[in-house]
Amino acid sequence: SDDLSPSPHIEYDRLLGGLLIEGFEEKSCRSRYQFARYHNSPSIPSPYLIERLRKQEALQKKCGPGTKAYKEASKQLRSRQSINVTEDCNYLLLIIHAGLGNRMLEITSAFLYALLTNRILLVDRYKEIANLFCEPFPGTSWLVPSDFPLNYGEFTQNSPESYGNMLQNKVVGGSTDRSLAGGGTTPPYVYLHLDGNYDFHDKLFFCEEDQQFLQSVPWLIMRTDMYFVPSLFLIPAFQDELGRLFPEKDTVFHHLARYLFHPTNNIWYTVTKYYRSYLAKAEKRVAIQIRIYETKGILQRNGPFPHILNQILSCAQNEKLLPEISMTDGAAAETQNNRTVAVLTTSLSSWYSDQIQKKYDEHTTVDGIIVKVYQPSHEEYQRSKNKKHNMKALAEIYLLSMGDVLITSGFSTFGYAAQGLAGLRPWIMYRSENHMVPDPPCVRAMSIEPCFHQAPYYDCKAKRDTDLGKVAPYVRHCEDVSWGLKIV
Ligand code: GDP
Repeated sequence: SDDLSPSPHIEYDRLLGGLLIEGFEEKSCRSRYQFARYHNSPSIPSPYLIERLRKQEALQKKCGPGTKAYKEASKQLRSRQSINVTEDCNYLLLIIHAGLGNRMLEITSAFLYALLTNRILLVDRYKEIANLFCEPFPGTSWLVPSDFPLNYGEFTQNSPESYGNMLQNKVVGGSTDRSLAGGGTTPPYVYLHLDGNYDFHDKLFFCEEDQQFLQSVPWLIMRTDMYFVPSLFLIPAFQDELGRLFPEKDTVFHHLARYLFHPTNNIWYTVTKYYRSYLAKAEKRVAIQIRIYETKGILQRNGPFPHILNQILSCAQNEKLLPEISMTDGAAAETQNNRTVAVLTTSLSSWYSDQIQKKYDEHTTVDGIIVKVYQPSHEEYQRSKNKKHNMKALAEIYLLSMGDVLITSGFSTFGYAAQGLAGLRPWIMYRSENHMVPDPPCVRAMSIEPCFHQAPYYDCKAKRDTDLGKVAPYVRHCEDVSWGLKIV
């Protein structure tokens, strides 16, 4: 009902410019059609992207779990047959792991890859995806059925089925040996190891000739914890299509994440209730994501670290994101007709938000604005296998995305997910070294895209390493991870 809306009179497009379609039951997943009430997108999806999403939905439905095509394809997999008789149904199964931010980045990357290569995307059913997110595709499920024939949880970098090992053992050709490409037989499935620890041969996934080979493999099983989209933009065979899908290149995650991710009702209820209780009435919402990567002993990993508190405050004040504190206390004490700024912080620790609140309670601000700090939870440490913990984390990613301005901690995929959903270019706080406040404490992001942390730096054509942050104007090194790549 409309009383849920923070501002019921504001026009909003519940279908997000055509990314979404009507027809899903609203009650079973309220966030799907309500997301737009809480966000202003800076960009409209291209008609071609919308056309391709509809095509992908049709494919997911035609080949998904329960269909004749799926039964046939999984039968072939069970019998390790390599001839593919259901030619227009090829699959990409994504193994899910890691924290929630990483998961959102990896699912988005896998989905884009599936779309580019006309595969059906299926995701790991054992990692609570169903508790966190509603089904994105109409009339079918993206969860891989429980009777899936392969024990994919056991695949590791050392598995002989991994693409890297197949190349090394010359089972297949790819870009390492042209004479083998096409000459050998096509395996029924290939395991793609694209985790942070991947090696030279695994990374050849990002070469065009290897993509040509993989195109013929009916089942790809992928394990990744990364946003590898920037490297897809560097594969010549995908460039035209990507240009048509995303005329504004830096909106890939923004559009695809809003298309794919719809928090389940419990989570969405928490988010909207919190928003309406604490954030809706403020004149401005400043969202601050505090993620701490100090390497000191595990017990004090999240602090309290005064240098991080100072970094947050100097970033917010230098960039005029939070009101300036008055130097002449008492004189400017008349508060101005209840103007408030709401600060939404997320962190595993409550210390930072308590300190920020204390600062503003003890001093008045120059223009009399009141600052109120809210932090929904403080979980103390990461527990990515705990259902309630993950639900809180997802709620907080969405609350961060509802800020008018956003400050994030560099390196963190949690923050990338929030900025991407919001369509905001955040101020990124640099990672501190030796307990010093970095100078400057933060920098405005070049784009709303996430950073690909472990990007390969191999030039497939020249067959040597090169700086891939310099080969295309729209793929650059990240602000926070100097060796990473991001689309700008
Ligand atoms: P990254 O490690 O910062 O890149 O982000 P991930 O989301 O992949 O993993 C961190 C995990 O730690 C999250 O998914 C949460 O489970 C937990 N976590 C980290 N920061 C927060 C926070 O601010 N709030 C909550 N609720 N959980 C957090």
